[in-house]
Amino acid sequence: MVSLTEAGRSYGKGPHRVHALTGVTTAIAPGELVAVVGPSGSGKSTLLNLIGTLDRPTSGRVVVDGKRVDRLDDRRLSALRAHRIGFVFQQFHLSNGTRALDNVADGLLYTGLPRRRRRERAAAALHRVGLGHRLHHRPHELSGGERQRVAIARAVVGDPAILLADEPTGALDTRSGAMVVRLLRELHDSGTTVVVITHDTELAASLPRRLVMRDGRLVEDAAAPAIQPRPAKELG
Ligand code: ADP
Ligand code: MG
Repeated sequence: MVSLTEAGRSYGKGPHRVHALTGVTTAIAPGELVAVVGPSGSGKSTLLNLIGTLDRPTSGRVVVDGKRVDRLDDRRLSALRAHRIGFVFQQFHLSNGTRALDNVADGLLYTGLPRRRRRERAAAALHRVGLGHRLHHRPHELSGGERQRVAIARAVVGDPAILLADEPTGALDTRSGAMVVRLLRELHDSGTTVVVITHDTELAASLPRRLVMRDGRLVEDAAAPAIQPRPAKELG
């Protein structure tokens, strides 16, 4: 689904050059659920932006869905992004003043579907995230947790192959955060590949795989400890 080979991203020139990401080699298979962890400034968002084709590497190679991200022109890159990738951000990134239904329906603009069809699919996506009763609310009329669920509905309405979430629970209270995590797990269970940046160590530890970033490098790629098989129930 995604592979990076010695991928790097730097900003600026000369003495002011910042190496946000250095020599990252890894791959993510279809159907995985992966956490990205590490201190602030360690390159997590930069990594996610490369995977999500929001950005190109300045060195090395990034392949998404069989396509070299560093070689596609902007038009092909946005097409790949629109059709295959869903994004969720800490600050929701919804359009203010636009009701939930249309915020989500706008996630399908690239499909060329008529508005009525886009709205039907948006309504279905909102039902799926438990917001069937909030279709006509605008973002400021929703709680943080509800806004993030709208953002998730928008990210998945086009049925992307991969869902990328950059600290999706960072701005939420514990309970709303837990609901968002549950939703990401459900999407994963139904076949979506999910990569989530998180500061929540408990959440990260509970996910099947963790990529640990430090100073722009991938320093650890850890599988969750194997779940101990429970002793078989004694018969009789
Ligand atoms: P994280 O998401 O782990 O907090 P980032 O990937 O956002 O880290 O940033 C990694 C490093 O790259 C940081 O030192 C950051 O300041 C730097 N950086 C990120 N984006 C830019 C940019 N557009 N211009 C210059 N430096 C940047
Ligand atoms: Mg970040």
